[in-house]
Amino acid sequence: TETPVTVVGLGLMGRALAGAFLKAGHPTTVWNRTPSKAGPLVAEGARPAATAGDALRAGPLTIICLTDYPAVRELLGAHENALDGTTLINLTSGDSAQARDTACWAGQRGARYLDGAIMAVPPAIGTAEAEILLSGPRPDFEAHRPALGALGTVTHLGADHGLASLYDVAGLAMMWSVLNGWLQGTALVGTAGVDAATYAPFARRIAALVAEWLPGYAEQIDSGSFPAEVSALETDARAMSHLIEESEAVGVDAGLPRLFKAMADRAIAAGHGGEQYPVLIEEFTTPRAAT
Ligand code: NDP
Repeated sequence: TETPVTVVGLGLMGRALAGAFLKAGHPTTVWNRTPSKAGPLVAEGARPAATAGDALRAGPLTIICLTDYPAVRELLGAHENALDGTTLINLTSGDSAQARDTACWAGQRGARYLDGAIMAVPPAIGTAEAEILLSGPRPDFEAHRPALGALGTVTHLGADHGLASLYDVAGLAMMWSVLNGWLQGTALVGTAGVDAATYAPFARRIAALVAEWLPGYAEQIDSGSFPAEVSALETDARAMSHLIEESEAVGVDAGLPRLFKAMADRAIAAGHGGEQYPVLIEEFTTPRAAT
């Protein structure tokens, strides 16, 4: 028989999490502030807990997924005496400081604590497509790895509780950067009457090509040495000017390319023009005042 699990918070995401545990055969206890949301899950075999305290005491593992960290702290704070000896996995979205603070707070009350982030929409939960990121002590992860596998592709990132939140926003930075680059290109070719669907396969090949560069570029960043093996930053900067000029000439917004160029120009001014693109990491690690 599968290990019992408890899900606290039955919003869109919490209901998907509880549903995936039920589907995988885990005895599942559920609790939600608005009790009616438990109805369909109870019909599928979930056990409703009468109070959040009962839910926290119901078994060895509780998954909590509420709107935000203040909601989590408010709820857990009202049931502090139910935390001793339990393992809590908090899949609520938040920042790394909230994750580390909550880990410390829960630890002081005797709970084992893992912090997590979900990179998936509720319908994907329970499939390999759902990326679930977890951070916190590895033994606590290993103890519950089989149950967590019911939710999707689960990755333990390390002992620092802040890691899941950091990877979560890093993934968003990647996602929006790729999408914005694609939209810039879609707008450019659109001025020649090319529709988005016609352009998309080319854009996809370029995105895949660039993805191939990442491991080698990461080595340059980690070693702090950026020899221009394939292209110097100065060469990239000239191509950026061309992108800006073409965008302006055909009436497409040039704000994004100008941002790229401004970063490259600062690095060139600092003497890095003969080095390779990832030397721009310093533009990111050294924050500039917001304008
Ligand atoms: P919903 O708005 O659907 O659900 C929010 C849940 O939080 C409800 O169960 C609500 O209870 C509960 N809640 C809020 N405040 C409190 C409180 N003070 N005390 C007790 N319970 C409270 O949100 P989602 O389920 O979509 O999202 C939950 C978390 O999952 C968020 O952090 C979100 O960022 C994250 N997430 C969501 C994704 C999505 O696509 N939906 C994707 C990735 C992450 P009640 O029903 O009583 O209002």
